[in-house]
Amino acid sequence: MLKECDVVILGGAFSGASLALLLRREAPDLRVLVVERSGHFDRKVGEATTEISGEFLGKRLCMTSYLANHQIAKQGLRLWFTRDENTPFDNCVEIGSNYQVRLPAFQLDREKLDSHLLACAVEEGAELWRPARVLDIGEDRLSVQRDAGTVEVRARWIIDASGRAAMLARKRGTLRSLDEHPTNAIWARFRGARDLDGHELRSRHPIFGKSCIASRAAATNHLTGYGWWCWIIPLRGGDFSAGLVYDSRLYTPPEGGSLGERLKTHLMTHPVGREIFRNATPVEGDVKAYSKLPYYSTEIAGAGWQIVGDAAGFLDPLYSPGLDYCSWTVRLALGRIKAEARGESVDLERINRRFRKSYDTWFRALYLDKYFYLGDAELMTAAYQMDISLFYLGPVREITVAREDDLDCLPFNGPMDSLAGRFMKFYNRRLAHIARQRRQADCYGRRNSGWRELGDGFAPDGRGVHSLLRGIRRWLAVEIHALTLRPMPAVKSEPVETQPAAAVQ
Ligand SMILES: Cc1cc2nc3c(=O)[nH]c(=O)nc-3n(C[C@H](O)[C@H](O)[C@H](O)COP(=O)(O)OP(=O)(O)OC[C@H]3O[C@@H](n4cnc5c(N)ncnc54)[C@H](O)[C@@H]3O)c2cc1C
Repeated sequence: MLKECDVVILGGAFSGASLALLLRREAPDLRVLVVERSGHFDRKVGEATTEISGEFLGKRLCMTSYLANHQIAKQGLRLWFTRDENTPFDNCVEIGSNYQVRLPAFQLDREKLDSHLLACAVEEGAELWRPARVLDIGEDRLSVQRDAGTVEVRARWIIDASGRAAMLARKRGTLRSLDEHPTNAIWARFRGARDLDGHELRSRHPIFGKSCIASRAAATNHLTGYGWWCWIIPLRGGDFSAGLVYDSRLYTPPEGGSLGERLKTHLMTHPVGREIFRNATPVEGDVKAYSKLPYYSTEIAGAGWQIVGDAAGFLDPLYSPGLDYCSWTVRLALGRIKAEARGESVDLERINRRFRKSYDTWFRALYLDKYFYLGDAELMTAAYQMDISLFYLGPVREITVAREDDLDCLPFNGPMDSLAGRFMKFYNRRLAHIARQRRQADCYGRRNSGWRELGDGFAPDGRGVHSLLRGIRRWLAVEIHALTLRPMPAVKSEPVETQPAAAVQ
């Protein structure tokens, strides 16, 4: 059997469904077919948007009222640091905003969101085959397994939106792992988590209760430690998503019990996690883990094909850039297909070059060795203030104020972005270096208790410069302190009478 269409999209979740919907709206003459393997979506990670993916969902896909009715408005990012497991709850360092946020962002139940996006794409004219599994991808055709048998699909554009399956990159041999960043994740949804804004916590800890105007519970809350961090994301209906991400050079999660129990044991090591998850239980069958999180494809566009979303690459969930990259790569494919449909030629090598540069700069500017300093409140606060201010002054300003063209949407490609990228790589490297010095001098996390920094929040304009300067001042202060650091002298061991060593288990 042979089926012909203009665009065939492999995978109908966030990236595939968004692209199908935008194509139907912006290039309605094109026949779009979506092939989705699953009969229905499950809950999945990718639950917190940033202001980039929030804008993409709200304004570009015009989902604002759907989001208001069916998902949660996110109130920024909040970081929690602790000196050790016994630090009193209200002595934990808290970094975040004192006010509700200025720009829309959301906490998403992805099962509901992806189903809604796909239903909208179908309603607006895309054809959907589901459940149907793509078995193989060729230059201009797909081989698809349907109930009735195998069908060949021929299309002018083949789009891979298959997520981590990354079918096209695997087939073309362009998939690479990122061994410099050995991160892994375990996550679950929990029932019975305690509300950070609830009466119980506020009445037991009145200073904590009065110290912040914004809703803490609606934020993405991050617990941090040396070599790891945890996300806590509220979902509509009362469940909480919680996950641990760790660098396997620096941290090993607790052993013993089921994956959900191990995750809970870890959450309970942090005083804030203990307060929230003491009586919580992981939802049966909703616990997962991935090892080796980051990977990328060296090419994402070629004659007749393009890759979008996680099928193109993934970096690190810290700061939630996953759906941002989905939105950028979807816009690249959309811009390219529209231009080629008009008879224009698009420089596909430029798309590949820009994607590689953006991915590499994003990695080195934000993530390379960050897990060394994530658990130190002073170092991470400096990074947080500089990282987020520059995110607002760069990509967020570009999407909200400058409204750049779809084919120019990837960050770190213009001259100013490149300069910002170099600056970010530099301070990220310095902070990771200072973290190592602090570990050697036994003063890592020396100010991890007893203060909060709750600012005005970020903005994509001159106010962003103030928060950037605050971050730079904090960074310079830790640089000056680093000049005083000396490694702890090694403890001289006296010769002692030894027993024969027991066999190591
Ligand atoms: C631990 C972790 C935490 C994260 N947290 C966040 C976060 O807080 N915020 C954020 O923005 N991002 C986050 N992300 C990233 C986010 O989850 C992804 O960027 C996003 O889900 C990718 O969406 P997608 O549509 O590209 O791929 P997917 O959601 O993976 O969809 C791929 C689709 O393709 C279908 N498919 C696959 N193979 C076939 C086939 N052979 N035939 C037919 N269909 C097929 C699948 O069934 C699926 O529906 C996180 C990622 C991880 C690993």
